[in-house]
Amino acid sequence: MLLLDCTGIHTLIKVDYMKSREFKPESLMMSYGYKPELSEGAIKCPIFQTSTFVFKTAQEGKAFFEVAYGHREKLPTEELGLIYSRLNNPDLEILENRLTLWDKAEDCAVFESGMSAISTVFMEFLKPGDLLVYSSPLYGGTDHFIKHFLTKFGVNILGFRAGESTEDIVKLIDNSGFSDKLALIYVETPANPTNALIDIEACKKIADHFSDVERQVLVAVDNTYMGPLWQHPLQHGADLVVYSATKYIGGHSDVIAGACLGSKALMTRVKTLRTFLGNMAGPWTGWLLMRSLETLKPRMELQASNATHVASFLKNHPKVEKVYYLGFIDPETDPVNYDIYQRQYDCDGAMISFDIRGGEEEAFRFLNNLKLIKLAVSLGSTESLAEHPATMTHVDVSKEDRDAMSITSKLIRLSIGVENSDDIIWDIEQALDCI
Ligand SMILES: *Cc1c(COP(=O)(O)O)cnc(C)c1O
Repeated sequence: MLLLDCTGIHTLIKVDYMKSREFKPESLMMSYGYKPELSEGAIKCPIFQTSTFVFKTAQEGKAFFEVAYGHREKLPTEELGLIYSRLNNPDLEILENRLTLWDKAEDCAVFESGMSAISTVFMEFLKPGDLLVYSSPLYGGTDHFIKHFLTKFGVNILGFRAGESTEDIVKLIDNSGFSDKLALIYVETPANPTNALIDIEACKKIADHFSDVERQVLVAVDNTYMGPLWQHPLQHGADLVVYSATKYIGGHSDVIAGACLGSKALMTRVKTLRTFLGNMAGPWTGWLLMRSLETLKPRMELQASNATHVASFLKNHPKVEKVYYLGFIDPETDPVNYDIYQRQYDCDGAMISFDIRGGEEEAFRFLNNLKLIKLAVSLGSTESLAEHPATMTHVDVSKEDRDAMSITSKLIRLSIGVENSDDIIWDIEQALDCI
């Protein structure tokens, strides 16, 4: 690489000639992968608002293309040079290197939206005739892409619900008639909006059960709800992790972006398709996300700590029937989910859903009377948000499926922000008083 010192996952940085230390990701979000001396000493990575890059010589241009198109292997110390911003750009490459640190991934690709990361994974790893197995509920856009786009191209699809046992899922796949065509298991955990959990290690076991020497069944996890801090799917056996970077990673409700992470081999395939779809993020998006990453950990930690206070308040409120929050999974009455929770999560997160006593009318009155919390979809941002899944984010899901997944007219979803927790609770209390 001409501009960067892209060292992949090695976080060993020389402190002085004797000492070295493996820094934590949060310590590296301001500097990793960027060399000020290559950019006039600027402490921050500039926005490389350029479509193309000048080669020093024709020989150099030839060498870059040979590597970019896989016509020869890279030499041991050779990095892919900068060619054209649909293939690579410093703002994207530095951002991608920084994102790998949180998930300890070998490589990362950043996209112009979460949906473009997700749809690129589906299109790269599925072909006509293959079977896709997916958990439900899924993010509405993902659900739509699976049911209305992939089926049009002859992909067989099979959904399972959070809470179904490994044996049940294996039976479901066996009975589908396409078990020898299983290519990908795609899951979202905790599921949006009910925080239902899926066991990633169990999904990996199911994938291995249906794999053979010629066909490795892959597991992909949408980690938007808890990542990249509180759940690390690659460490539980997932092959790929995807994000809507619009949510916690961006964190300020001002940018749409996505990311995908995994092994070098799988990410080479993802990045190659991205090059030809042209759905990579632009340099401005890359720069905004680098700025966001500097405060990722303190933001998420404050959001999670605020959420514990809000969840406790809701739990004891007479107008609240039930609270869906990771911290409230009961080991006595729900041992299966408690076991997943203990193995898979480092934190209870900042997403809370609750059933209000009543139905749509009471839920809407609550939402319409909020003063500080904004009535909007999306999540993971600095400001607290509230929405009504049954009529908003999940309106596309059939009523029957919604009922089966507890997405009823009394369900409200909250994304807790960085405001003062007493102010958030005051707002919820006064809106509940309006009912
Ligand atoms: C928002 C979201 C997406 C889609 O991401 P965009 O950036 O809006 O394209 C996918 N999955 C989950 C869980 C999301 O919350």
